Amino acid sequence: EPVLTFEREEIVANNLKHTLFSWQKQAGLKPLVIDKAEGVYIWDMNGKRYLDFSSQLVNMNIGHGRPEIAEAVYKQMQEVSYVYPGMVTKVRGELAKKLAEVAPGNLTKTFFTLGGADAIENAIKLARLHTGRHKIVALYQSYHGSTNGALAAGGDPRKLQVDSQQMPNVVHVENPYFYRCPWHSETEEKCRDHALEHLERVVGYEGPGNIAAVIMEGESGTSGCIKYPKGYLKKVKQLCEKHGILFIADEVMSGFGRTGKWFGVQNHDVEPDLLCFAKGATAGYLPLGGLMVSDEIAKAFDDKPLPLGLTYSAHPVTCAAGVAVMEVYEKENLVARAAELGNYIEVKVAELMQKHQSIGDFRNTGLLGCLELVKNRETKEPMAPWNANASEMSVMNQVQAKLYELGMYTMVRWNFVFIAPPLTVTEAQIDEGLAIISEALKIADTACK
Ligand code: PLP
Repeated sequence: EPVLTFEREEIVANNLKHTLFSWQKQAGLKPLVIDKAEGVYIWDMNGKRYLDFSSQLVNMNIGHGRPEIAEAVYKQMQEVSYVYPGMVTKVRGELAKKLAEVAPGNLTKTFFTLGGADAIENAIKLARLHTGRHKIVALYQSYHGSTNGALAAGGDPRKLQVDSQQMPNVVHVENPYFYRCPWHSETEEKCRDHALEHLERVVGYEGPGNIAAVIMEGESGTSGCIKYPKGYLKKVKQLCEKHGILFIADEVMSGFGRTGKWFGVQNHDVEPDLLCFAKGATAGYLPLGGLMVSDEIAKAFDDKPLPLGLTYSAHPVTCAAGVAVMEVYEKENLVARAAELGNYIEVKVAELMQKHQSIGDFRNTGLLGCLELVKNRETKEPMAPWNANASEMSVMNQVQAKLYELGMYTMVRWNFVFIAPPLTVTEAQIDEGLAIISEALKIADTACK
């Protein structure tokens, strides 16, 4: 017998009265109350089922409700629930050793954080310290987290609300966004080359000797899955090497099999000097992130103190979850599976594009994909512009409402609809999801001119 029975209204009232919600106006919110989650589905308190087509925030990579993760966490809680980061546990070493095995290049050591943003903050801090330089170069269409340094590194317009607080000394460059190429290039190769020349010019203007690091996502996520043209990232890394600039790969969203490789940069044959991860490391079961560094950077701190610290760095329980999640990735071959399912989705979305004139572009790597909706395929007028305001979102809001009505949760931002289900999704569930999207896109099609 439950001691206290909460009714749905009471749960919602408690949350709305006493908690704050990320990124939104606080009045008028209608959050779903979820009380069951299993596999690729979540259920609200009325028993309505939703297909989770973006793995929540692209982190629930192994699906919801896996008992083996709960068991590993429970066992660790009973053995050692916490020791300070100067003491060690079996799981901390086990997880870090596994990470070193799957990471690109010679990234052998990890500093554990609690999530993505603090991994980015610490990467920037270390890159500046290691090079003795102060500037960071990043892409406009990118997101690296919400703390002041990470927000400044990103170009996402959410930062503009708190612009005066931004960490200084970040310089942004244009993305090689071929669908909307800033240089109106006719081919992807030309767009790539323009983007590289532009980056090189900016590096020159800013003084290469002042630049500590270039930071880029392993594959673009939140900004609309703006894929790097073939060869782009490799050339960026070469430019960094030429000038003694460190390359920081932000693999927070693109890591852990999401793109069909352990890490996104492995699709581009790039070995970063620093790599930040979070989300998929515990597949959302507990908050864990980290920063991996090259041997060279690690060695620099053999004889001087490492100026990083967090009370919950390498928390044993989150590390235990990480070890258990890594076992699932390996046992179920989820990294290769993401690549195969990505191919499947690309074929199916190509069919959808025949049916729906509102799909302007689909960009996908493994199970990280975005539909870009347009009002007109010729002019590419977006269904909602970059950084759209509420009224400009009216059609996209209707599309999103239809998805909910038909039993799908997925991320919808401006004119992007995300297709990033858990790596455990089946082909039948992908078909189910794409049928729902197809139905909702009828609304977008009617807004086409
Ligand atoms: N970097 C990237 C690429 C992300 O997508 C995110 C979150 O979406 C972050 C960093 C920030 O991670 P967190 O929200 O765990 O701080």
